[in-house]
Amino acid sequence: MNEFDLIYDLIAPAAGHRDDVLLGIGDDGALLRQPPGEALAVVADTLVAGRHFPLDMAAEDIGWRAAAVNLSDLAAMGATPRWATLALTFPEADEAWLRSFVRGLMTCFERAGVALVGGDTTRGPLTITVQAMGSVPLEQSLTRRGAQPGDLVFVSGTLGDAAGGLAQWHASETHRSLELRERFTRPQPRVALGQALRGLASACIDVSDGLLADLGHIAEGSRVGMRITAVRLPLSTALRESFDAPVALRCAATGGDDYELAFTAPAGEAERILGLDDESCPVTCIGEVVAGEAVVLCAADGATIDLGPGGFQHF
Ligand code: ADP
Ligand code: MG
Repeated sequence: MNEFDLIYDLIAPAAGHRDDVLLGIGDDGALLRQPPGEALAVVADTLVAGRHFPLDMAAEDIGWRAAAVNLSDLAAMGATPRWATLALTFPEADEAWLRSFVRGLMTCFERAGVALVGGDTTRGPLTITVQAMGSVPLEQSLTRRGAQPGDLVFVSGTLGDAAGGLAQWHASETHRSLELRERFTRPQPRVALGQALRGLASACIDVSDGLLADLGHIAEGSRVGMRITAVRLPLSTALRESFDAPVALRCAATGGDDYELAFTAPAGEAERILGLDDESCPVTCIGEVVAGEAVVLCAADGATIDLGPGGFQHF
């Protein structure tokens, strides 16, 4: 199969339909109808084999992950996901691999109602770039900029699971928790929560590099500091059963890849925010926004906990 057969036989039929796709895969570009009055939210993320996912990760999981990490960025903007493009570089035309990859990618996109509207296909080391697009009323968009001293800091779901799953993946002789592993292979973008936080959260980010590092981006964008209480960090039973308490805390505070939403809101909105908490998407208050610029992790007695160098950084 050459690359064009691959696109038309495998990718195009799975691309999904939306009424606002005026022209999808098959021409030089796509034509899309944007809802009047809304801002276009655009995000992109590249996954490089061996760097962003283990080389032995299943093709279907890679596809899911490539979609999910982008939907997570749209969620953190408060946007409604609509469209995506896929720039795919792979070593050889392996039909079985590609079929599984597309199944994982499109399953994740279908759940969010996203149509694949174009892309590019090239030969080379396995690298996947997805660009996702959505829309949000400009005045309700969520950014890193609006946190104010006195606001509370919240996070969705549980933290550290993906980092724990990845650590177990790489360790040779160890108990492996399927639950933790799936937090890495199948991140669940918090799309509904992001939209529910429109006009409610003062700042928002998705946790991809690690909680403290990502809260640091809100702190920088908003020119504020934060105090985060370690015992309040939501840890799953699976993480607590798999690791000693200090390791679990380090995973939760600095491990990346959770794709939960971390956000701030005025204290007066706390009730409405905690009202969004449900079984599928817990919401926990983990600290407060203060004047200053540092994000500090504190023990219950207020003493600072130093975990050493922060979250995961590429360079
Ligand atoms: P061009 O040469 O004009 O850039 P291509 O031959 O690369 O066009 O692509 C033909 C059509 O297939 C375009 O609509 C493009 O968006 C789509 N396409 C190519 N690769 C992919 C891919 N990996 N995923 C989705 N659509 C793709
Ligand atoms: Mg062209």
